[in-house]
Amino acid sequence: MGVQQLKLESVRRKTGGRIHLTPRAPRSGPVTTLCNQTLAAGTYSAVEDDADCTNCIRRSQDQGRISGAFFAQDEGSELLRLSLEQAKFRKPQRADSPRPGAPERPVVWPTAKPPPEAIPDRLGELVTRGFRPAGEGVWRSPGGVVVKMRKQGKEWRFDELVSEGSVIATRVADGIRVRAGDVEVNPTDGGFEVQLKKG
Ligand SMILES: [Zn+2]
Repeated sequence: MGVQQLKLESVRRKTGGRIHLTPRAPRSGPVTTLCNQTLAAGTYSAVEDDADCTNCIRRSQDQGRISGAFFAQDEGSELLRLSLEQAKFRKPQRADSPRPGAPERPVVWPTAKPPPEAIPDRLGELVTRGFRPAGEGVWRSPGGVVVKMRKQGKEWRFDELVSEGSVIATRVADGIRVRAGDVEVNPTDGGFEVQLKKG
């Protein structure tokens, strides 16, 4: 993780002394420095100068310690956002990737988007992996096979399959297996299982 992108801030006791590093100088309350000193509220101020506390400087090279310090200050989410952001930047096709050597500038975080509606792995008799929802109880395979499910009580049960392509029906121990395009319908104990063809 590129922890070096986390910007440390400098703080100094109002009475003077060494300039220490901290993940984030809070607006109020105490601050804990990288050298593990806790400066009480009101006794320190954030400064622009470079740190001169050798312990802080040495520890600022230690990624594990920095991450720990960030998490300790509830900056874990920022760390996470940074690593996600970096993961995005690694994709070369992204147009807004920073140019190498571009000057460091504050990062503006996009508003968090809600995750796409979660689809469970299985809905009754349908193994949803690879299928796209195409309406209430209707699912479409990558190969264009449409599977209609019907709700019986609380369970989604296989209702109908529509395929433009070839369909192979095979007698198996428990009934008939249907392979239509990239979809497979297998009889199970008292029902069916619909899923994308394996392999
Ligand atoms: Zn220090």
